[in-house]
Amino acid sequence: METNHKFAVPLAGGTVVEAVYYGNGTLCVSSQAGCALECPFCASGSRGLLRNLALEEMQRQLVVAIDQGVAPERVTISGIGEPLHNPEPVRQFMEYCMQRGLPVSLTTTASPLPQLSEFLGLAHNGLMFSVHAGTAETHRRLIPRGPDFSSLINLLQKQVPVLSRRRRRKLGINYLLLEGINDSACELNSFAESFHGLQDVTVHLLTCNPVSGSPYSSPPQPAIEKGYRLLTDAGFQVRRANRWRRQARGGCGTLFVAKSQAGC
Ligand code: SF4
Repeated sequence: METNHKFAVPLAGGTVVEAVYYGNGTLCVSSQAGCALECPFCASGSRGLLRNLALEEMQRQLVVAIDQGVAPERVTISGIGEPLHNPEPVRQFMEYCMQRGLPVSLTTTASPLPQLSEFLGLAHNGLMFSVHAGTAETHRRLIPRGPDFSSLINLLQKQVPVLSRRRRRKLGINYLLLEGINDSACELNSFAESFHGLQDVTVHLLTCNPVSGSPYSSPPQPAIEKGYRLLTDAGFQVRRANRWRRQARGGCGTLFVAKSQAGC
């Protein structure tokens, strides 16, 4: 299956969450039904948190995907929910995936911060921090219920450099470019200054797929390229959204949850 495919996964109590299979072999699963962080650009958290998912309900998303004919080569816990708000089932699900030979990564806003320290020590195939900002003000605007911006930077500046190079290279910082909000040279320069010293960590420059009714959109391609050059010139390894992420069914924050329906 070479295109993205969304799955509606029915769960106990009439809750339905979405998972998405990217045509490159990655299955993106949800860790919660809804999300307490309610980031304003994200459809997944627009109705708040309904409940945490149990381990079996995360496993079920994998089973449903396989039943529908896809063969995931890797899994990412980057769908609906903040994984660190549901740490134990998420930890167990990571172990379950690895026992099946499936590399597993996750995306987090790093909320709450003490949980992040624990997850930095776990075996994983990638730990992505959703930051989306270069200043505390913009971070508060985009992730109002997330961790304190300075405390997040301090933690990463303290704990990342002591990890092995192999582990550091598995870490990423997500920066979802939103037009008129965090795409200015000033904001990106502040980001480069704040995260200076973490150049082994890859910056993922993401773009958002429009969600009906949302005022948020990504800037045009030339502005994305400008941001890319600014960060690479500052010494960062930067990846732009791959073609799977840019497909209509692949954007960050587009999964919905429903009571009878579903990113970081
Ligand atoms: S972006 Fe991630 S943390 Fe924010 S509301 Fe959406 S699912 Fe939750």
